[in-house]
Amino acid sequence: MMKKIAIIGGGIIGMTLANYLDTDKFDISLFDDEKNQATKASAGIISPWLSKRRNKKWYQLAKDGAAFFEKMKNDFELTEDVYEKCGTLFLRQKSDLIDLEKLAIERKKEAPEMGEIKRLSEEETVALFPLLKPRESLYLSGGARLDGKAYLSSLKKRAQKRGVKFYSERATIARALDKWQVIHEGVTEVVDDLVLCPGPALKELLESIGTQVDVKPQKGQLISFQTDFETKNWPVLFLEGAADIIPFQNGQVLLGATHENEEGWDLSESQEAFESLTEGVKSYLSDTKLIDFPYHYRVGTRAYSSDFSPFFGPHPDFSSLAFASALGSSGLTTGPYIAYLLAQYFNHPEISWDSSNYQKDIKNYINIEKTSN
Ligand SMILES: Cc1cc2nc3c(=O)[nH]c(=O)nc-3n(C[C@H](O)[C@H](O)[C@H](O)COP(=O)(O)OP(=O)(O)OC[C@H]3O[C@@H](n4cnc5c(N)ncnc54)[C@H](O)[C@@H]3O)c2cc1C
Repeated sequence: MMKKIAIIGGGIIGMTLANYLDTDKFDISLFDDEKNQATKASAGIISPWLSKRRNKKWYQLAKDGAAFFEKMKNDFELTEDVYEKCGTLFLRQKSDLIDLEKLAIERKKEAPEMGEIKRLSEEETVALFPLLKPRESLYLSGGARLDGKAYLSSLKKRAQKRGVKFYSERATIARALDKWQVIHEGVTEVVDDLVLCPGPALKELLESIGTQVDVKPQKGQLISFQTDFETKNWPVLFLEGAADIIPFQNGQVLLGATHENEEGWDLSESQEAFESLTEGVKSYLSDTKLIDFPYHYRVGTRAYSSDFSPFFGPHPDFSSLAFASALGSSGLTTGPYIAYLLAQYFNHPEISWDSSNYQKDIKNYINIEKTSN
């Protein structure tokens, strides 16, 4: 029998999930108020392999998340203006480059999708990214960029063709016997299954059913320059102690991003962010013309938990309710794979849920005060 399922949150998790849930089994509705989307504001870097983070479960998730893009690219026929393996370039001191290369070679054993690993001379670096001063670098051919906004728009069209119903409204939830109520604009929908992927707003949704959750909003700003450079084949740049530089195909170059833990839900643009993001990169550029081009800000709100780890999966008390949040600054990388795992959970209830490779027990992030039936 067909079941009704509602998804609250139409960022990268919700939109991917809407495309992986089985439409032979589910009548799907997606609610998104389009207010605070991290996905639309994001920088777009998919290259987790040389991260300094020591959290092994996070690394496993991010590594598998990056590998998952190959499947997703085919499943959703993503075009290069949405997702492209443009390569990533790391600029460091020479001695650090040697260590980084060793790490890359070691990690590639488990992550062949990292592609070619190559130390580049000063000339080769400048040939690949003409705005740079001559510096040696390390290049990974498997690094990629995803245009979050274009991804959402492309997946929304696919989901609509699959019959997914969209509501651009804020929703609240309530428990109703063994089902869920989703309330929006005074209308109440009753569904069998419910998935919450609303970023930091997970807190208020879960609180309404008596579950406290460890998640907070973090402000992120980046600057988007519209240049006349021929950026098509430029790689993403990781600079030491400065903003990352993310070129897109049409001359658009992003600098980002800030991590502002104390700003809550604030989405205002700040001159301070402009200065801190542009100041650091100047010393790497031979031509600072980049920062004279017209620009605009992108500001979004990420979700993060106290140990900066994402969490996702079924609610311990209700198998018909799943949630995902706290993807932090790597959610474009991990989000689609998390959505896929959640889709498998609902599509195949006969398979028991086990995400212990990827995260601590979900009970570490929640506190169930009362179980309202
Ligand atoms: C500036 C910036 C740069 C970033 N750069 C990168 C990067 O380079 N690489 C990378 O991997 N990650 C990056 N990230 C992180 C990544 O964008 C996020 O982790 C990811 O997009 C989170 O996706 P999500 O689906 O969990 O949430 P979101 O994209 O935030 O979507 C949640 C949606 O739910 C809606 N919502 C909330 N409550 C309700 C409700 N009650 N009813 C209806 N709708 C609701 C929200 O308004 C929002 O639209 C960046 C983030 C920012 C902000």
